[in-house]
Amino acid sequence: MKIAVLALQGAFIEHEKKLEQLGATCIELRQKSDLDQDFDGLVLPGGESTVQGKLLKELEMFDDLQKRIQDGLPTLATCAGLILLADRIVNQDQTYFSTIPMTVKRNAYGRQLGSFHTIEEMKGLGKVPMTFIRAPYIESVQEGVDILSEVNDHIIAVQYKNQLALAFHPELDENHSIHQYFINMIKKSTR
Ligand code: GLN
Repeated sequence: MKIAVLALQGAFIEHEKKLEQLGATCIELRQKSDLDQDFDGLVLPGGESTVQGKLLKELEMFDDLQKRIQDGLPTLATCAGLILLADRIVNQDQTYFSTIPMTVKRNAYGRQLGSFHTIEEMKGLGKVPMTFIRAPYIESVQEGVDILSEVNDHIIAVQYKNQLALAFHPELDENHSIHQYFINMIKKSTR
């Protein structure tokens, strides 16, 4: 199983470590030519969504990746990655891949609660440790988007078809359940 990790900026190495511990092979997407290869899954890591969005366009990687996601490529998106998938962002006009019908709020927790850690229930996975770093949350979702977890009355994890989007950073905690869940999504994928 080959999983491509977007490696333009942000917390991508931690995802690679986790996925490799679970038996997957990771490749890094850094430039357009990296998209010549085929892969079974995609990780959009945390970082800064504005920077990632700009680089994706400048490096001419955007359209190819958007099409793959639309065509059903299993995708795990965390934090900034979740923002890239949203089709509406409340505090800015610019959107990116727009492949999940949901409205997100960037830097939603303000300054004081910018970063925090909690352990909460996630649908199908039980208790999961969650590290939030200047995180977004999801204000609302459209039909078809499955809400997997809510923390403090805010939606912070969803699945929409082939896409798993999380406001927190599962790659920063010991727990492997999210990455295992994603690997199982790839195994079940019929694309
Ligand atoms: N605040 C970042 C953004 O708006 C996301 C932070 C993160 O990925 N940890 O893109």
